This record gives sequence, structure tokens and C-alpha cells, in this order.
Amino acid sequence: MGKALIIGAGGVASVAVHKCVQNSEVFEEICIASRTKSKCDDLKAKLDGGKTKITTAQVDADNVDELIALINEVKPDIVMNLALPYQDLTIMDACLATKTNYMDTANYEPEDTAKFEYKWQWDYKERFEKAGITALLGSGFDPGVTGVFSAYALKHYFDEIEYIDILDCNGGDHGYPFATNFNPEINIREVSANGRYWEKGEWIETQPMEIKRVYDFKEVGEKDMYLLYHEELESLAKNMPGLKRIRFFMTFGQSYLTHLKALENVGMTSIEPIEYEGKQIIPLQFLKAVLPDPASLGPRTVGKTNIGCIFKGKKDGQDKTYYVYNICDHQECFKEVGSQAISYTTGVPAMIGAAMVMTGKWNKPGVYNVEEFNPDPFMEELNKWGLPWVEDFNPVLVDELPEEAKESELVR
Ligand code: NDP
Repeated sequence: MGKALIIGAGGVASVAVHKCVQNSEVFEEICIASRTKSKCDDLKAKLDGGKTKITTAQVDADNVDELIALINEVKPDIVMNLALPYQDLTIMDACLATKTNYMDTANYEPEDTAKFEYKWQWDYKERFEKAGITALLGSGFDPGVTGVFSAYALKHYFDEIEYIDILDCNGGDHGYPFATNFNPEINIREVSANGRYWEKGEWIETQPMEIKRVYDFKEVGEKDMYLLYHEELESLAKNMPGLKRIRFFMTFGQSYLTHLKALENVGMTSIEPIEYEGKQIIPLQFLKAVLPDPASLGPRTVGKTNIGCIFKGKKDGQDKTYYVYNICDHQECFKEVGSQAISYTTGVPAMIGAAMVMTGKWNKPGVYNVEEFNPDPFMEELNKWGLPWVEDFNPVLVDELPEEAKESELVR
């Protein structure tokens, strides 16, 4: 069917590459390009020999001219941006210049301010429309599958969705006192920020980890979960008509939070550059260098993830609730593609999103979030490519849970 240029060769890209190779009918050819070419070559060495032709290249995705030259050489049908959020705009610029479709899994973030916003990327809408190319934003799990779940719920089960709670549970244990499951810098910037949720047209800010609940997750058990800001809240608040409130909760163990707080207290999570022995260093980037590489967690992580959305709304004038979620087993993922479930649950929807655009099912010039497309073909592909979903029409709602005492000073 076509050719994809994959930028990045980290945890998520590695899974996406495995999945593209499995889906060789769509991905006849892929080029893996990243800052460190040896990582691309390692992936190629692992996966070469199948039906998908694999090439590799070195690229600095912060440099638009380099990207344009590479796209002109490879001539892909789509660029899959699986590098970091900092590279979103340079890659979108290169796609515009070469009239090539674009997709990513995380919204743009300037390197010097921890600020998650779609504004920068939504601003490209008219230019993508005029160029006749599609930009698909946030095609990972969350954002990504959570948006597809929302579109699917609205299409099939509700006249109006009033409340959405997104619940992201990682019941995995890697055996380290502290490590992050994906890029530590991005992960820590996300969880040390203030919490925020959207209600009746307004954003309500909370302290980091201020709102806590205990939820009993299917196949995982009871876990502490905390209200966080997460980027799909912004697009879903805009794209789901009639919505009254949307929140996002993620589970964290006490050990993770205690370590994070200590690191914060000593200044190690700061993104302000400091001078050290005549050199400017950013403490959070230094911390990343001493933490375990997320890719190394795969063989040691056991347990499951359970991520999904609980909806409450109306159908034919009646109240209705609906919970749809996916359960993913860390060790099963490792057996299949050599990565743990966090990379797996992001890499699979990245491949599916690119396939949706390449096969014309989700082709619409402009810049769109996943929930703005027909969810049905994507939902089918989730079942086919390793992320089957489960439905529950009588779930326990977050609002029915007792409010937990706020965490000790440790997390404040
Ligand atoms: P990693 O750090 O493992 O990988 C990032 C890759 O990007 C590395 O190969 C890195 O190269 C490469 N890269 C970084 N900067 C550049 C550059 N300037 N030019 C070229 N390549 C570059 O991250 P993950 O795989 O864990 O995450 C990838 C993306 O997925 C992130 O944007 C993250 O936010 C997102 N994500 C989304 C989720 C979702 O559910 N939507 C969940 C988890 C992650 P090098 O090897 O040289 O460092």
C-alpha cells in the first residue's frame, strides 16, 4: 500500500516499527530515522527479512531543512513523529513544505516551559487544509485510544455525553524503587505540574496530586489514583458536544511519589538551567541520565495496565453509563515485541493511526485529533493488533467512591 517515515527510535517507536512490520500489507516500506542512527540500525537488524522493506537514516528533527531533505529523499506517504513533543512543530513544518501527511502521539511542548497545549499545532489547520494534507494529532493511547473510545461511545451509545473520567492504571512492577515507564523528562514534567480538569466551560486547577481516589481495576485490583492534567482533556472538552465535565486520573504507588517529592525538594526536577563546573546543565536532563532507561524495564516489569474511559450521559432521555477499557500484560508485550506495556499501548495505536491515514479511512486535509474521525475502523484494528477492549454497562463511577484523605506532606 505505501511507505512511512518513522522519526525516533525509542520505546514507542520500537513497538510501532514491530507493528508496521506485522502489518506489511499497509506498510510495504518504512524508513526509521533518528538522532542516533545506531538505534535505527539495531531495529532494522532485528526485523529485516520480512515483507516490509526497512531503511534507516540519521536526522536531527529540530532542523527543518534536514527533515525536508530526508522527506524528499524517502518520499513517504506519511511521517510518523515518534520522537519527543519538542519536535512536533519542526516536523509539521517539513511536512507542509513537502506536502506529506503527518501524525504524532503527544502535543507540542516548548523545551523551556512545561506547557501542554494544542494551540500551536491547531494553528497549522488552515495551512494543512490548503496543502491538501492530513495531520493526525495524538494517536497513542492517552491521548489517542481514549479519544477514539469517546467518539465510539457517542456514536453508538449516547445522545449526549455529560461526564467523562479517563482512568489510567499501571499495575506493573519493575522492581526498582524509582524509574519512569517512558521518557523520564516528559513523564516528570507531566506529573509534577499542577492538576487541572474541565467543568462547565472552565478549567479548575488543583495542587499536584491533590485529588486522590482508590479504584478497583479489573485484573489489577485496588490502586491509588490521582487527578492530573492530561492533554486529551483539551481536545475532548472542545470536540464532545454537551460535555459538562472531563477529568483524568492516573495511578501512582507511594514509593514513586515519595522519591519524586524528594527529588523535587532538592531541585532535581527543575528545567531551569544551572551552572555546574563551568557548564550549563538542566537538572531534569541530568536526572534522566542517571535513571534507568525506560527501554531496559521491559524484561523486569510484571503485571498489567488497565486504561479506559467512564462515560455518563443520556440516551433516549434516560441516564446511561458506559466504561470501555483495555487490559494489557507487561510480560506478554515483552514476549511479543521486546517492550513493556506502556510503550506497547502507545506504539500500537501509533501504527493504527498511520494506517488509517495511509488507507484513506482517516484522510481529511487539515489538523485533527483522533476523536474527529469515524472511530469504528480504529476500534476494529485495536482488537486485531493486540489491544482488545472490554465494555461494562454498569461500572463503579468515580463520584460514587469515598473521597480519600489528601496525601501526607510528602506529596505536597
Ligand atoms: P524515548 O525517549 O524512548 O525516544 C525518543 C526518541 O526520539 C529517541 O530515539 C530519540 O533519539 C529521538 N529524538 C529525540 N530528539 C530528537 C531529535 N532532535 N531528532 C531526532 N530524533 C530525536 O521516548 P518514548 O519512545 O518513550 O516516547 C516517544 C513519544 O511518545 C514522546 O513524544 C512521548 O511523549 C509520547 N508518548 C505518548 C503516549 C501516549 O499514550 N499518547 C504515552 C507515552 C509516550 P536518541 O536515541 O538520540 O535520544
